[in-house]
Amino acid sequence: VVLETAAPVETVTAPSSVKISNPERIIDPDSGITKGALADHYAAVAAIMLPWVGSRPISLVRCPQGRAKKCFFQKHDAGSFGDAVKHVGIMEKDGHEEPYLYIDTPDGLLTCVQMGTIEFHGWGARIEDVEKADRLVFDLDPDEGLDFEAVRKAAFHFREILQSIGLKTFPMVTGGKGIHVIAPLVPRAEWPEVKSFAHRLAQAVAQSDPDNFTAALPKAQRKGRIFVDYLRNQHGATAVMPYSVRARSGAPVAAPISWKEMETIDTPAHWRVGDAKELVKRAASKALAGWGRADQTLPDL
Ligand code: ATP
Ligand code: MN
Ligand code: MN
Repeated sequence: VVLETAAPVETVTAPSSVKISNPERIIDPDSGITKGALADHYAAVAAIMLPWVGSRPISLVRCPQGRAKKCFFQKHDAGSFGDAVKHVGIMEKDGHEEPYLYIDTPDGLLTCVQMGTIEFHGWGARIEDVEKADRLVFDLDPDEGLDFEAVRKAAFHFREILQSIGLKTFPMVTGGKGIHVIAPLVPRAEWPEVKSFAHRLAQAVAQSDPDNFTAALPKAQRKGRIFVDYLRNQHGATAVMPYSVRARSGAPVAAPISWKEMETIDTPAHWRVGDAKELVKRAASKALAGWGRADQTLPDL
């Protein structure tokens, strides 16, 4: 992936007072990447990551003993994070409020890392109004055995369809198997409307190209196809955040890319822990200027 750089950038490591214990602990046995290297990654990308992950409810994938041991998905504070990891009360379906987590500083990010976090996932809404979506995401999940070429084609298909109804989209490789096609939204529509829109669009795509797509939940119907995971677009659902490391072999990183780069990228796990400098430089490149930003609302469907 060749880039034009708009302006020279330095890798600025975010100032953080968080002390990382056991920095030599290996968190990915396949690559030998340590907790210290993980913390260095997050300190280096804090300035480009916080505009996204900051001020939205988050869930964490924590693997205190590394990704080869027990990991867990954490939505609520167990009371151990301290002040840099903040709370937002969210009303649950049954009418009672639950405290969710959010961060908005490098210290918040690094505190989570200190507590064994590898992955950061975020809601599609900001803490100011968690009922209104500020993005749509189509999480394209290939069935086992499908090659990346098929996912790439699928992403361009979604780009075209969303463009035809007036929505500008931005792609992200997840660091795993797939691609997220993201349409930023001015936070206006509430979750029921947003979910319904995403569901109907996913169904329409699956109906018009049933050989390649399915929006059906049963695994059996996904055979040889790409599952359009529209369920990221509902109250409480999360998607992996840009520049999050993944708790997968090689410690890959979820990375925003341009549609032009999408034509030639080789794998959704192209960047890894250790590539922070390149990721920061890319973020200031012409190719990624304005990534994820568009003033737009849900069209009629
Ligand atoms: P890939 O490209 O490999 O599919 P992905 O991040 O899209 O990577 P998915 O398996 O499609 O991974 O997961 C979609 C989202 O579901 C995740 O990004 C995450 O936010 C959410 N998720 C994952 N695990 C859990 C869990 N245990 N509980 C609740 N939500 C989860
Ligand atoms: Mn996915
Ligand atoms: Mn999914």
